[in-house]
Amino acid sequence: MRCPACGASDDRVIDSREAEDGSAVRRRRECARCRARFSTVERLAGPTPFSVLKRSGEREPFSLAKLTAGIAAACKSTSVSEDVVLGLAGEVEEAVRRHGAAATSDQIGVAVLDRLRDLDEVAYLRFVSVYKGFATAGDFAREAGLLRKHTEPKHHQGADARLPAGPAGSHSER
Ligand SMILES: [Zn+2]
Repeated sequence: MRCPACGASDDRVIDSREAEDGSAVRRRRECARCRARFSTVERLAGPTPFSVLKRSGEREPFSLAKLTAGIAAACKSTSVSEDVVLGLAGEVEEAVRRHGAAATSDQIGVAVLDRLRDLDEVAYLRFVSVYKGFATAGDFAREAGLLRKHTEPKHHQGADARLPAGPAGSHSER
């Protein structure tokens, strides 16, 4: 490991201990040239198991494919391209994995919404409707109102005129 202080790649391990509940090893190292001390963390190579805690209390393995499909469905026929969807899903996965071995479906949903909000209004509202399971058009309109406050003064045509039918079919109706 290259020394962060002088760039030499000759060091010795002065201490090793378990970290992250035994799934990693933290090693304290000392540079043989300049004596700077630094730490490295060693983990199993490859993706670590990561699960999603659903509202029902069920736990299921995290699936990037599933997350990507959910985002792609919300972004269908919007300004958000397939590449952006893939990038966004990867970003969300990276963000939620920082929570540890599991994240709740709410944490994941919010992480997606935080990013979609700035990308495309229609995609954002569709994802909201699916993710929050909105039962009524009133809830949906309220969320759209909140969004407009958030994004003003970007659009003046209003979201409603441009909203295609959402996944549930009738969200754009009043
Ligand atoms: Zn050094």
